[in-house]
Amino acid sequence: MSQNTPNTTLIVGSGLAGICIAYELHKKQIPFQIIDSGVNVSTDIAAGIINPIVFRRVTTSWRVSDFIPEALKFYEELTAAWGNTYFKEIPIRRAFSHQQEVDLWLKKQELPEFTPYLKPLDEDDEKCNKVINTFGTGKVYQSGYVEASLLLKDALIWLESENYLRKETFVHADLDPETGAYHGENFKDIIFCEGYQGVYNPWFSYLPLETTKGEVLTIESKGLTEEESVNRKCFVMPIGNHRFKVGATYEWNTANTEITEEGKNTICENFKSLTKEDFTIVSQKAGIRPTTLDRRPLIGSHHIYKKLKIFNGLGAKGFLIAPLLAKEFIISIENNISIDKEVNVERYNRLLNKN
Ligand SMILES: Cc1cc2nc3c(=O)[nH]c(=O)nc-3n(C[C@H](O)[C@H](O)[C@H](O)COP(=O)(O)OP(=O)(O)OC[C@H]3O[C@@H](n4cnc5c(N)ncnc54)[C@H](O)[C@@H]3O)c2cc1C
Repeated sequence: MSQNTPNTTLIVGSGLAGICIAYELHKKQIPFQIIDSGVNVSTDIAAGIINPIVFRRVTTSWRVSDFIPEALKFYEELTAAWGNTYFKEIPIRRAFSHQQEVDLWLKKQELPEFTPYLKPLDEDDEKCNKVINTFGTGKVYQSGYVEASLLLKDALIWLESENYLRKETFVHADLDPETGAYHGENFKDIIFCEGYQGVYNPWFSYLPLETTKGEVLTIESKGLTEEESVNRKCFVMPIGNHRFKVGATYEWNTANTEITEEGKNTICENFKSLTKEDFTIVSQKAGIRPTTLDRRPLIGSHHIYKKLKIFNGLGAKGFLIAPLLAKEFIISIENNISIDKEVNVERYNRLLNKN
């Protein structure tokens, strides 16, 4: 284990949030240690999909033109550093749900901010026989998925090899929030990246962090195309060797990680409404997304104990947004300036009096 100094930052949690913060600190040669209990139920389970479009309303995803280039750069840097390819670019074919969606798409494809992401509709999209489609289909670019479980595995190997990682459970009661002293060591900052377990954090419990369960299947199908991901009611993402991730379910306000028959049946029904191809189920997994009501992350410092910081609430788009937000957060800490108010925990200061 490397020598701690009072300038060392302590990160709690080595899921996607902790990895992005750690990588940023490493690049800036800022000393840090990271604690993880070894049980991960979000990053390890995630399908890792990056999709620039919100299909329901045919809008671009929040800050997409900022997030996509930074995310792609981040995963390329990790590939160069750790040797495995994490981001796989794959277009997404959306099977339209109704005529209104087609009309919206036709309007949006004319707008410059959609040009990088929406392929203008043509006859092939209308007749596309890869999915059951009444209203035709549309194709999205600059999309794909991150091999989340592999990234987590390699990150832990890297953190351990650099002597950054402490494999233990962080005990909140043992931290002095004023001085940053923990088990006899003093830390400059403590950044909590605890995922859904952030709901048990005594200093940030006033924040509206939610636990949203998701189940996902890996299936095998010889007939399905591996050139595109398809989407309607569920995503079907090719991951190689005729295997596909299919999902996911959403169950709000539960931290239960058991797989269920109900989850499996919902995903299978949605899948069957999209394609008639035969398939077999290879595996089923369940995890918990750390989500927020306003769909924006929870980032910033505690209102009293300034050494205590949080980087959480990445929600269902973590793999797109985390790399840039981690960079922005570290810059804000280094320069002692506030992070953007849209993500800053200060937006929930009104809830403090309720505790
Ligand atoms: C089924 C499913 C599908 C998903 N699909 C996608 C997708 O397609 N695209 C996408 O972008 N996102 C997806 N997500 C969301 C994505 O997984 C999250 O946004 C992201 O992984 C959250 O990362 P995190 O680091 O905040 O949390 P986590 O990955 O949960 O990491 C938190 C870490 O903190 C550690 N920890 C917590 N408390 C302590 C403590 N006291 N002491 C020590 N360690 C502690 C835990 O052990 C854990 O390793 C999906 C999630 C699920 C569940």
